[in-house]
Amino acid sequence: MRLILLGPPGAGKGTQAQRVVARHGIVQLSTGDMLREAVRDGTAVGLKAKAVMDAGQLVSDEIVIGIISERIDQPDCARGFILDGFPRTVAQAEALDRILAEKGLKLDAVIEFKVDQTRLLERIMGRAAEAKAKGEPVRRDDDPEVFKTRLEAFNRDTAIVAPYYAKTGLLTAVDGMAPVDEVTRQIAGALETV
Ligand code: AMP
Repeated sequence: MRLILLGPPGAGKGTQAQRVVARHGIVQLSTGDMLREAVRDGTAVGLKAKAVMDAGQLVSDEIVIGIISERIDQPDCARGFILDGFPRTVAQAEALDRILAEKGLKLDAVIEFKVDQTRLLERIMGRAAEAKAKGEPVRRDDDPEVFKTRLEAFNRDTAIVAPYYAKTGLLTAVDGMAPVDEVTRQIAGALETV
């Protein structure tokens, strides 16, 4: 099974991806996680990506497309994968189509997390304030100001990716503001027919 999770930062894609992984025995491919690892390891990609990520902007299409294309070839992806945080632009979606076609692979589903961005922002601000009060560190890109930039990047570049997939008939929307277990149930329902 090969699927994509679409939605703004903080919508719960990562949490749901882990649940799908546990249920279907496929791997989670999070470009955010892969980029953070590259930054930690100080690779060439990491060095290029760090400042852009810290600012809440999008890393270049070329970099993330390269990462995903290579990753999909790994043996653990043979049973399928869930893309979390990719594609984030229409150019990435088009590149993914090409990559999958070249490898003779097909997508099975695209899940779109619908959210109320005002409530999402309130949630992030609440979390950041709580962490600060406890003296815990706030992840740099979860800082409310950076988070706002990430939301803007989503609205500018990523919101149009869902309509791109609507044309393929693979798109299902779920309520990203619902309790976590309810979102899981909605996703399971969408995957039943796959
Ligand atoms: P995430 O954890 O998915 O929110 O990703 C963290 C950061 O990594 C984003 O704010 C971007 O700077 C970068 N990033 C992750 N995935 C992509 C992508 N598909 N395209 C561009 N930048 C990305």
